[in-house]
Amino acid sequence: MSATIISVATTGAWPGKEDNPAVPITPEEIAKDVIECYHAGASVAHLHMRDEQGRGSMDKNLFKKTVDLIRSECDILINLTTSGALDATNETRQAHLRLLRPDLASYDAGTMNWMHAGIFENHPAFLEELGLTMQEIGVKPEIEVFDTSFLYNALYYQSKGVLKSPLFIQFVLGAPGGIAATVENLVFLKNLLPEDAVWSAFGIGKNHLPILYATLALGGHIRVGMEDNVMYRKGELATSNAQFVRRAVRIIEEMDRKVATVEEAANILGVRK
Ligand code: ZN
Repeated sequence: MSATIISVATTGAWPGKEDNPAVPITPEEIAKDVIECYHAGASVAHLHMRDEQGRGSMDKNLFKKTVDLIRSECDILINLTTSGALDATNETRQAHLRLLRPDLASYDAGTMNWMHAGIFENHPAFLEELGLTMQEIGVKPEIEVFDTSFLYNALYYQSKGVLKSPLFIQFVLGAPGGIAATVENLVFLKNLLPEDAVWSAFGIGKNHLPILYATLALGGHIRVGMEDNVMYRKGELATSNAQFVRRAVRIIEEMDRKVATVEEAANILGVRK
């Protein structure tokens, strides 16, 4: 079995300092956290930006500032969100990709209700445009699957040439409005994948650890970090994103696996060729 990729999602669009004071919000805080996670064993950094009020932002200058700070210190693979603000437009969801050409970017392959926030809209015309933009500029889509239909949409876009094989699928379990974070759901989803797909998964909130263990047992890659979970364990706030990465490294090694280096992760994902 090849090495296991640890992605770290440091910030996301929702958690704030009121949820956990260790959530990194500014470009400087996010870059510092990512570099610490890189040294701890993460090979991919999934990034969201926040405005001065702490709200999700697609400001490409914030992305640039953060990515420049990270790239000056380490070669971790960069994965930028394309869904980081409720007021984002089709244009602002892609402008930072053209500017920064990250290794990866999220591709949310369907629409659903964010039960706490509104509609998570990914119109078919936008998904077609985004897939073609990413091919044109050489950014690998990290296809985020929040529910079963998202996977079928991805397979449809694969058949149309909008997404290229092998797909990289990220199962997002337990989002409000998405499929619940259970091991049974993970097994069900995993069995729908094309044979050549590379896949990863994570559970949001309290089911983070069962999904992490089950993903490793099924041969998938993993994602950790405060975008998904601000609690280290029940009743105990996480002290940093790197704390989650260090725990993931320990678990992978106890399972007699190897944690992927950046170079190994790039080979597995087919980026930086
Ligand atoms: Zn994200």
